[in-house]
Amino acid sequence: MKDVSELFGSLVFSDSVMRTHLPKDIYKALKKTIEQGTHLELDVANVVAAAMKDWAIERGVTHFTHWFQPMTGITAEKHDSFISPVDGGKIIMEFSGKELVRGEPDASSFPSGGLRATFEARGYTAWDPTSYAFIKDGTLCIPTAFCSYSGEALDKKTPLLRSMQAISAAALRILRLFDNKDAKRVLTTVGPEQEYFLIDKKYYLARPDLVYTGRTLFGARPPKGQELEDHYFGALKPRVSAFMKELDEELWKLGILAKTKHNEVAPAQHELAPIFSTTNIAADHNQLTMELMKKIADKHGLACLLHEKPFAGINGSGKHNNWSISTDTGTNLLDPGETPYDNAQFLLFLVAVIRAVDDYQDLLRISVASAGNDHRLGANEAPPAIVSMFLGEELNDILEAIDTGASYVGHEKVQMAIGATVLPHFPKDTTDRNRTSPFAFTGNKFEFRMLGSNLSIAEPNVVLNTAVAEVLSRFADALEGSKDFIGDVAKLIKKTIGEHKRIIFNGNGYDDSWVVEAEKRGLSNLKTTPAALGAFLTERNIKLFTKHGVYTEKELESRHEIYLESYAKTINIEALALIDIVNQSIVPAVIDYQNDLSELLLRKSKVGGYDNSLEDSLLANTSRLGASLAKKLAALEAETIAVRGIEDSIEAADAYRERVFAAMSELRLVVDELELIVGKKYWPLPTYGEILYSVI
Ligand code: ADP
Ligand code: MG
Repeated sequence: MKDVSELFGSLVFSDSVMRTHLPKDIYKALKKTIEQGTHLELDVANVVAAAMKDWAIERGVTHFTHWFQPMTGITAEKHDSFISPVDGGKIIMEFSGKELVRGEPDASSFPSGGLRATFEARGYTAWDPTSYAFIKDGTLCIPTAFCSYSGEALDKKTPLLRSMQAISAAALRILRLFDNKDAKRVLTTVGPEQEYFLIDKKYYLARPDLVYTGRTLFGARPPKGQELEDHYFGALKPRVSAFMKELDEELWKLGILAKTKHNEVAPAQHELAPIFSTTNIAADHNQLTMELMKKIADKHGLACLLHEKPFAGINGSGKHNNWSISTDTGTNLLDPGETPYDNAQFLLFLVAVIRAVDDYQDLLRISVASAGNDHRLGANEAPPAIVSMFLGEELNDILEAIDTGASYVGHEKVQMAIGATVLPHFPKDTTDRNRTSPFAFTGNKFEFRMLGSNLSIAEPNVVLNTAVAEVLSRFADALEGSKDFIGDVAKLIKKTIGEHKRIIFNGNGYDDSWVVEAEKRGLSNLKTTPAALGAFLTERNIKLFTKHGVYTEKELESRHEIYLESYAKTINIEALALIDIVNQSIVPAVIDYQNDLSELLLRKSKVGGYDNSLEDSLLANTSRLGASLAKKLAALEAETIAVRGIEDSIEAADAYRERVFAAMSELRLVVDELELIVGKKYWPLPTYGEILYSVI
């Protein structure tokens, strides 16, 4: 392996590459566009495009693509070669500024939720110069936003960029009040911790449910699950280690700051965490990370499962969204300061996040809702579907002291007068170790833990950025023109704590009593994706997004439609896959087994005088379960057909949950029982035990 520092970013048209490959004035103009969002002139774009092309060709690249993130949740790309014909039957390699800044893919086959009328099939992609171009598979990839011809967002990047603008504008208003004249922009930063499973490819391919739906639709519990707790942080198996090593190298080449890797709680489960970066880049990088995980796993004869719940009864996979706000000059605004004045600013940003999470708890919940994540949230392994916050003991004491006006009796005894005392600096380790909290303060950032492993981090961050932007702009409205600034800040902090402390919960989020307590506090508990989506288009939510220019009302309606449709389609595919597997593999296995038992019984009875109790009881059990299987299978088939007729998309999503999903679960119970009775040589599919312990 090359020196890592040499390897790092070697496939990225990064800032340092731009500086050496672009004329000075062009570099400056581009930098201004990147940093201040100014318009990029076509002649500048032409020079940048030519430099990009030359740099890429030197590295064996022949094609370029506008790389974007449609509402499918994965990325899309269409490759065009650089070739352009010239006289004499020859070609030259060309790439123009126009091709760099704008593309026109046919948008008609991407989900649009009705935004793109069919007569207007064209969409366009627009270069996002804030995310560097990179080389993947011999293709120059240009990160782009994807919009309809009339300018409506059809992707995940556009609203994310808009939300980052919104929070920047609002936070700058607050910073100016605190005399900060240097910061030109405020950014949010994210470090997403990614969980995944690795299994042997041969077993993956032998399970059509994994291939079609990403999760096992049945499977009896293996004798050994995760109860011995011997996998978490355990030594890496050689095949896993080889996979992780290659993954790290490929990620580093793409400038992705892969940092931590370890085994997770469940057998065959692992985690990768990068060092945090600007949210927009973190979102792009997380998509690339997921893509590379799958690709590199395949090279190693493995399959990477990114589904939130590949195996029932075994921990599912999540994605922790570590989030903070920082200035472009590098100050983390969620880091407690060194002076009383800084502390007041820290506390104001902190309570802004608390209020944002309380005010928009439903939206945060909705932003992580998916058919896959429904298996985790509230299932006693992941945070509950109720959003609450954990601040750590010390910070909690401080806020309580502010709320009650008492003196703070934490590690240092000080009177809590904001702006007069210095807050003790919280060492990270003394704060959160409450793994059950959905939204925990961890020293100088928040960790939003409700995301599913397969989710794009874009949506939850759009909500977080916009909700905090809203609260900050309300704070700015209240404080601008204040005659007693620090006094008014102190009052505002105290008032905000008093009004929003219901969202703070320090106990065990997995405990049933919390559900009761949360209801008393008036917190929302949207248990399933259909329930969550039903609460999406409220007037309040629409107002939030339209006020900050993050979504238009039409865009929100279209997204609502896409989410509902995607939920219904997911459950439908799962139901069809289960029906097929049961019909084609399970039923014949059950019949074969019964057949052999009956033949044996027949032969024994011909001879006479044997004890038949073993065969009798097995045959009786298998027949009984077989009959139950037929009944539940017919019920699932009937429900799957019946719900197809439902026109209204909210009703349809509900029906998929309440009827189809319920029927699948019932059928599964019978299949799992059969798996434990029917002999191994009859059972046509790899078992949980085989799959989970397949990588050695
Ligand atoms: P753990 O949560 O396992 O204790 P850390 O707290 O060290 O691990 O970090 C978890 C993730 O949080 C990492 O991806 C890290 O880069 C990220 N992180 C650290 N600081 C920030 C920040 N200011 N903004 C966003 N993410 C951050
Ligand atoms: Mg963490």
